[in-house]
Amino acid sequence: MNDKSRSSFPAVKSFKQTGADTIEIQWTDGHCGLVSLGTLRDMCPCAGCAGESILFESYSPPEPDRKAPGRYELKAASPVGNYALKIVWGDGHELGIYSWEHLRSLCECEQCLIASNSPKRIERAK
Ligand SMILES: [Zn+2]
Ligand SMILES: [Zn+2]
Repeated sequence: MNDKSRSSFPAVKSFKQTGADTIEIQWTDGHCGLVSLGTLRDMCPCAGCAGESILFESYSPPEPDRKAPGRYELKAASPVGNYALKIVWGDGHELGIYSWEHLRSLCECEQCLIASNSPKRIERAK
């Protein structure tokens, strides 16, 4: 079997913490990405953090407690199949499955910040 549909998106080659708050992500297409732990955690894609829509009823989670101990501490990261990364946080939260697409969209390296026109991102790049 040679399924190319899933392998068309670049994959994560390495994912490592390089500073108190910084993760460096190496991609198979050569991109060297950076993302802060704060962004990574606040953008957790699980239903409990991001909300979900079931049969047209949308559920919005309550505002998270950003001061919870360990919330922004990376405890472990392990690959899920060949399409995502599961991240375990210091407060025990482990439901976040970050697909490559999602991880790449969170990239905060200079190149990506300039490419995206979000004012918030440009502000953070300063
Ligand atoms: Zn980037
Ligand atoms: Zn979550």
